[in-house]
Amino acid sequence: MTEQLVSTDPATDEVVATFEVHSAADVQAIVGRARAAAPWWRDQGYAGRRAALLNWKRHLARHSADLVDLLHRENGKPVIDAQLELLLALEHIAWSAKHAGKVLRTEKRRPGLLLSNFSARVERVPFGVVGVIGPWNYPIFTPNGSIATALAAGNTVVFKPSEHTPAVAQWYVDAFAAANPDAPAGVLSLVTGFGETGAALCRAGVDKLAFTGSAATGRKVMGACAESLVPVVMELGGKDAAIVAADADLAKAADAIAFGAMGNSGQTCVGIERVYVERSVRDEFLDELKERISVIRPGSDASASYGPMTMPSQIDVVRRHVDDALAGGGIAVVGGRESIGERFIEPVVILDPPHTSSAVQEETFGPTLTVTTVESLDEAVKLANDTPFGLAGAVFSRRHADEIVEGLDTSQVSVNSVLGFAGMATLPLGGRGESGFGRIHGPEGLLEFTRSRAIATQRFAPPVNLLTFGRKRWVVRLMPRLIRWVHAR
Ligand code: NDP
Repeated sequence: MTEQLVSTDPATDEVVATFEVHSAADVQAIVGRARAAAPWWRDQGYAGRRAALLNWKRHLARHSADLVDLLHRENGKPVIDAQLELLLALEHIAWSAKHAGKVLRTEKRRPGLLLSNFSARVERVPFGVVGVIGPWNYPIFTPNGSIATALAAGNTVVFKPSEHTPAVAQWYVDAFAAANPDAPAGVLSLVTGFGETGAALCRAGVDKLAFTGSAATGRKVMGACAESLVPVVMELGGKDAAIVAADADLAKAADAIAFGAMGNSGQTCVGIERVYVERSVRDEFLDELKERISVIRPGSDASASYGPMTMPSQIDVVRRHVDDALAGGGIAVVGGRESIGERFIEPVVILDPPHTSSAVQEETFGPTLTVTTVESLDEAVKLANDTPFGLAGAVFSRRHADEIVEGLDTSQVSVNSVLGFAGMATLPLGGRGESGFGRIHGPEGLLEFTRSRAIATQRFAPPVNLLTFGRKRWVVRLMPRLIRWVHAR
């Protein structure tokens, strides 16, 4: 019997849908179809692609109730969070569609004095076919960050979603075709399966690969892409810290941090996992935080704050981190080991765990938070930076925000808030170190999915031609003087 992929509701184990497991040959055929569609899509130009992407956006918005319901069932997140995820994705589609032409327009460049008989320009050229491998935690928003920009830049896309969220992905991909019935098959396609299907996509002849997921899998994806020098974008995990200064509005900081840490069951790459708070306001901050968290509750009903853990194996990771932090002397100020159920995890906050514990060093991806007391903002910045990750962070301060931001070694920072940068279509998103490299979203995301083509056009014959074997002897004699005259002064 052919292998199948069964997608289930993480709150109930009910079957949501069943999918084919695409083999390497299937993936190759689908990439071939995407390649055949690439010239048509490229030739639509920015105006044609803008129209098609906006058709898609409108279709997704008009039928959003169905997609949101599917996202709630397949991923487990509350309906309001599913709506927010879709809304942010639609913002990114709209922005990419409307701004690709301006960001990627051909630029004239100065040819320089030596080659002033030339005109020079740089064009942005789509790669062709882009492969996108996505995760399950934000199964629309996260891959959409690559898909919307790659499409707007003129590439066709083949998308491999996580094995945990293929139904949402199918809906999202089908919506493009439904909204654009005249487009050939292959502008946006789906391949489904497990890790092997993702590995097959890396080897199926795509021209660029955008990956979001864990660093461990990211390394495998890079290895597979390296075989044929396929360039990659790596959006990997994070261990984001929030710094709470003594002059912060503590009530607002606690409110934002509770959401940043526990929202989506903590399964957010840019979620807050660590807090560094100045000693003088530590107790007051903790009181505010406990008050906010006391009304948070996991569940799958309409009033739940967040849903079940989407991936069952993640529960063991959370348990290991909590155990390690408590064994090392951390104090459970909210919840504890008993908060970890079979599907749902109640919020856990651990005060002053050892800096070396896995709860502080590794990505937990659960509704847990460590809070560490610091004696100064310098110590807070030093500890926040002492991690192999470098995705994002948050700063809460009335007067010192800029200097704290300056010290942080991350690629995104929220000031007096959390997560704001991810919702802004004009800002790039990406990491450094174990958090990956390359950028999605905004102008930088559009540039990421094109390569430059530099064009130098000779307009007239120069009086002194350096680019010929017929160079005059006096020109050859002049060269050393020319070098000194131009560059040695
Ligand atoms: P993975 O990194 O394992 O999976 C991400 C994607 O890669 C999925 O589509 C997966 O497919 C696919 N994949 C798996 N193996 C391969 C392979 N050899 N070649 C190509 N593609 C492959 O993440 P998980 O979903 O297992 O989550 C594990 C951890 O990753 C989390 O605990 C969290 O720390 C981190 N993570 C970070 C995210 C982020 O946004 N930065 C998002 C999700 C996870 P399949 O699901 O079918 O195996």
